[in-house]
Amino acid sequence: NSFIVIGGGILGASTAYHLALKGAEVTLVDRRDTGQATSAGAGIICPWLSQRRNKPWYRLVKAGARYYPELIKQLEDVNEKNTGYAKVGALSLHHDTNKLDKMEERAIKRREDAPEIGEITRLSPLEARRHFPLLAEGYGAVHVSGGARVDGRALRDSLLKAAKKLGVKVIRDNASLIVENSQVTGVTVGKTKLTSDKVILTEGAWANDLLQKLNIKVLVKPQKGQIVHLKLDIENSGWPVVIPPNDYYLLHFGEGRVVIGATRENDKGFDSRVTAGGLEEVFREAFTFAPGLADGEVLETRVGFRPFTPGFLPVIGAVPDVERLLFANGLGASGLTSGPFLGAELARLALGSETELCLEDYNVAGAIEKLN
Ligand code: FAD
Repeated sequence: NSFIVIGGGILGASTAYHLALKGAEVTLVDRRDTGQATSAGAGIICPWLSQRRNKPWYRLVKAGARYYPELIKQLEDVNEKNTGYAKVGALSLHHDTNKLDKMEERAIKRREDAPEIGEITRLSPLEARRHFPLLAEGYGAVHVSGGARVDGRALRDSLLKAAKKLGVKVIRDNASLIVENSQVTGVTVGKTKLTSDKVILTEGAWANDLLQKLNIKVLVKPQKGQIVHLKLDIENSGWPVVIPPNDYYLLHFGEGRVVIGATRENDKGFDSRVTAGGLEEVFREAFTFAPGLADGEVLETRVGFRPFTPGFLPVIGAVPDVERLLFANGLGASGLTSGPFLGAELARLALGSETELCLEDYNVAGAIEKLN
């Protein structure tokens, strides 16, 4: 069984790693575009409080969050300890007590089949400030002990290093498909032709290029995100991740490093500039719930392109009418949560093993259109 994976973000890295774990022969080709979503993403792993009603989406992110501790243990066992993951708990804020009641109810209900949520604690504004001292006055919170944070690039690198230890060949270059009679037989990298039994596409927001050759239009679009890293003169390794009511968030990596994000810009294409308007938006929203952040030193701003399908749901599966080609994409704003698990599912699919989720719910038809 030989495979070529195109794209080395969280999804491709996880797919290659899981294929290699099962003894497959794998080559991963990644050209690491500026704005790779995984490289910019600093993620909150806390899907259980979301109000989004889409059930397949929730099943996927729930499975993704559940899988993390097992995956991190596997990586640590092969001496990949710098995974960027830590279960620090999550604090979900609101100033409206009715909203907090509903949030708490939702968490308790969802814990029935997701015990990994851990302990659920309702906190008064005063108690919430004990967990997160920079919090503005008047915010109560629901605290869930199972919430975690992850640094996308650290996890990607540990997956790639673990994959290499299992024999995966990683090439940093552009790949294009070799197509013969509606069959994908391999890829071209520079002047070299590589063949394999199957090719697996995980190219994130850039997915439209390769399938044009097969008269297929990919409907995945980039959503630009700008995310700011600050340094505060304060010890913060005990802080939870903080989810305010406004769609923005804050998380930390200890030693005073705090990450605040992020913009969601749908009409910017692949413009990877850090903009004044983007920074203004992130700061304005973050300062409303944590004004003390204004004293932080700005270390850097990362920009990434989240890949979104028209239905905002990830897709995974074979490309219709094309042999030996698998496609997965559309991880959107929750791809650090779902990506490692979805990569494991993609590896199972590629190897013909049973998957944990019913993949029909994530049909690739939701992301592609056949052109004539
Ligand atoms: P990417 O990481 O973009 O990787 C795709 C790769 O494919 C790129 O390296 C590209 O160069 C390569 N490629 C494309 N075409 C080719 C080709 N022809 N040849 C070779 N290589 C190719 N998720 C969460 O769960 N929680 C969060 O809190 C969170 N916060 C985020 C904050 C920001 C600012 C951003 C941008 C994202 C955030 N995400 C979060 C979402 C998450 O980061 C993405 O959903 C996820 O990283 C997407 O991974 P991917 O592997 O599909 O794509």
